[in-house]
Formats: sequence, structure tokens, C-alpha cells
Amino acid sequence: MSNSGNAEVLIPRSLCLIEDFDNLNIDVEDLCSVSITWDDGVVSELKPLLHTKPKNILFPRFVETHSHFDKSFTWTDFPNLESNYGGALSVNLQEHQTRTKEMVLERVEKSLKLAIQNGYRAIRSHIDTYKSQSIDIWIELFKLQKRFSSELTLQYVALAPLEFWDTLNGEDLAKMLSTHGGILGGVVVPPFNKKNTSKLLSKMLLLADKYELEIDLHIDESIIEPGAGIKVLLETIENLKINIPITCSHLSSLISLKDSEILHLGKKIAEKNIKVIALPLTNFWLLNRKNETTSLKRPVAPIKQLQKTHVDVSIGSDNVQDPWYPFGNFDPFYVMSCSIPMLQLNPWDRMTLTSIFLAPSRLLNLKWDGLIKKGCPADFVILDAQKWADVFSCNLKRKVFIKGDLHC
Ligand SMILES: [Zn+2]
Repeated sequence: MSNSGNAEVLIPRSLCLIEDFDNLNIDVEDLCSVSITWDDGVVSELKPLLHTKPKNILFPRFVETHSHFDKSFTWTDFPNLESNYGGALSVNLQEHQTRTKEMVLERVEKSLKLAIQNGYRAIRSHIDTYKSQSIDIWIELFKLQKRFSSELTLQYVALAPLEFWDTLNGEDLAKMLSTHGGILGGVVVPPFNKKNTSKLLSKMLLLADKYELEIDLHIDESIIEPGAGIKVLLETIENLKINIPITCSHLSSLISLKDSEILHLGKKIAEKNIKVIALPLTNFWLLNRKNETTSLKRPVAPIKQLQKTHVDVSIGSDNVQDPWYPFGNFDPFYVMSCSIPMLQLNPWDRMTLTSIFLAPSRLLNLKWDGLIKKGCPADFVILDAQKWADVFSCNLKRKVFIKGDLHC
């Protein structure tokens, strides 16, 4: 059968669940040598390899927790040459003036194809949403989601101003999202009026509760008023006494707080089971940028402190070639190569790989947790590589397997 095969590979120890672990041959970078067999698209055997060092590294196919398919590849027509947050926002609004349903669908399809080819198995994408927008676009977006579903799980977040979720259009869209597994999105970035923001967040949370929806917020993507957004969110949840799944994307300003304050907030975030997505690429590119000086003060979610308080943190990529970030190509190895050195995360540490593979699988509620084990789908990316330096090299050769079949 074409969807069956075997390979001798290296797998990061923390991504591999093997029964015969006493005999595992693990190298200094925590890569273990194994022989893997798959039948009919499912891993049927995984055993230690003792005497040879394989020439390939195997990863589970990747999960992207945060992207913006609707604006990807708009940089050429809508560049933000000052490369700051204000510029991105205003160029983004200019792009909206010319945006058509067809353009958005074309960008989504192009992004999906690249993502599959580069090794993703699931992606959450935000889609800009506003009151004057026709609901028709969602019908087409859900058709695309279905068309690609055998190769990739796609989740949409309707990214709207908070006020939108307090309108009839907002309620209609929430109803529609509830039948397609969609998510309510919004932005909570200072400066804001605390009372008004709390009121709007309450309405959004109650709407999500009514239709059993999740919420994913762009929150505290700033350099001012550290943690102002998450504090309002935590207070609002406390007052409402409801329990819905919430994701906080960015949380970058938290890094300006004292470690003791981060740990205090982290405990509260973990208690409410709020998940966090760190987005280093766009944050490092856009925030705290000054024309005259070079600064290393770059806000990004404090991953290690949050993990210490048991917050489930994922690393995502965010924008691809749009006014917010001019680079990227829906390639998980680009994201890893940039973010791992920039965040001083060791690729051989379990918690680093947790934030790249396992936490994202939990965040998207995927059936497979991403661990390579007997019975898991034969969904792999196999690289010509023997060490982490090869993984982060520019001339990467990869093969993507989807349910045991080599994807061409
Ligand atoms: Zn975003």
C-alpha cells in the first residue's frame, strides 16, 4: 500500500512515546534513534535503533495557533515601510477599502496550499470582521475549510471590534460560527477605557457562553500599561462567574512587569485555564521601534515564567507578508529558526518542544496530541538532518507525509 512504509530516524525524545525505552539510544541533543513503521496511514511499530545513527530527523506535522490568512501576501500592494504598529493599522485599513470576497478567498487558498506543503496539519486563522461586511464571505470560507479538511484542520476566528459582538450582526455571525466550530475574536490593547472595555468583554463572553463558543483575543500587544488588558479580562470573568475556553494571543507587555507580578498573574491565568500564544516575530518587528536607536527591549509573552505557573503556552507565527510583518512563508521551520534563538529557548528542552507541538495541539482541541507513538497518524515531516543545526539551516530538504502518503 502506498500509505505504508518504514524509516530509520531521529526523533526528539520528548515527542516520542516508546514502550522499550530502556534500550533507547539518545544523543547529546536529546534526539533518539528509532525505527518507525506505518501501515494504512497509522504508526504500527516504533522500536529503538541501537547501532546506527540515522541521517534523518522526524517531526510530527506542525500546528499553527495564530495566523491571518485574509491579509497574507498583501505587503507588496500595501507595504508599511515605517514598520511600526500605528503604520500597520493604518495600511491595514487602506487595504480594507479595496478588499473583495474573491481576494480574501484567493489569499486563504494560497496560504493553505503553502502551509500543507511546508508541513502543517492544523492552523487557526483570524479573519478581519466588521459590521458592513456581508456574511456571505463566511459561507465561502467554510467551503474552503471543508475542501482542504482531509489534509489540514482549519479553525477560523472572527476578529472584530469588541462592539461588534453587541450587535444583531454579531449575534447572527456567532450563531453561524457555532455550527462550524468558529471562534469569537477581538482586540484589547491599551490605551482603553477600563469600564467600557469590561462592559463590552462581558457582552462578548455572555454571547460565547450562549452559543458554546471559544474566545481568542489579541491582548496587551503593546509597550504601555503592562498587563492592563489581562487584568480587565480576569476581573470580568471573575464577576460573570462563567467558564468558557479563552485564548490570549500576544500578552507581550507582561514582560515589563516584575517577575513576582508575572508569576502572580500567571497563577490566575492558569486557574482560569486561559491558554496563551506567544508571537515573537510580529512583536519583535513592530513594537518599541525607534528610528534613531537600536534597542533590545522587545516585548513578547514571558514564556518561561508563564510555564512555571502551569500556563499552557504555545508559540505561533502571526502575520505573513502583510503590513504587520513583511516576511515568512507559512513555514514552521522559518518560525522555529527565528524564534528559538531570539527567545533563548533550547530546542533539546521538553518545555520548548511542548510550546511548539503539544500545547498547540491542545489549543486547537485536535484528536492527536502530536506525540509520535504506536497508533498515531503517520503525519510526519522528515528532514535530511542529524542535529539541530541542520534543522535550522537554510537549505532544508524535507518530505511531508500525510496519513502515510508522501505529499508532493
Ligand atoms: Zn494576530
